[in-house]
Amino acid sequence: MNREAGVAMDDGRAIHRKAKAYRWQGVEERPYKEDDRALFRSITRQVLFSDPDMHGELRYFEMAAGGFSTLERHEHMHAVMILRGRGHCLVGNEVRPVETHDLVTVPPMTWHQFRATRGEPLGFLCMVNAARDKPQLPSADDLDKLQADHAVAAFLRNEPVS
Ligand code: MN
Repeated sequence: MNREAGVAMDDGRAIHRKAKAYRWQGVEERPYKEDDRALFRSITRQVLFSDPDMHGELRYFEMAAGGFSTLERHEHMHAVMILRGRGHCLVGNEVRPVETHDLVTVPPMTWHQFRATRGEPLGFLCMVNAARDKPQLPSADDLDKLQADHAVAAFLRNEPVS
């Protein structure tokens, strides 16, 4: 790995990488392929900061209007700042409308999902541990339990009540 900052465009240690329209210089935009099981939809990921000498990573996720992130849980936490647009998130049994610059904390082993419910893109920064466990997906039983809550069920149908 090249340790000299700024030598290559794709060097994460470049001192300055310009932003333009929620894309960053030298950062690969990784489209998530659409998922047959509808676990996620219309979401892309850019890894902004990731380095062997740091214990954390900062990523930018963006959903097109109507898109959503994977409904999942895991031991590692997420520290999220909404960077673009408005939408909704689910954390545990709580559904919340979110907008630009709001902060969202996802505790360990807590079901969570973000949805671009407002007819516009929803983008967020997400800080995570570099060393982290693999996400768990909900079983049919887990989904039943989540959907027992009226507000959560509406959120999962992409029709949040508030
Ligand atoms: Mn997650």
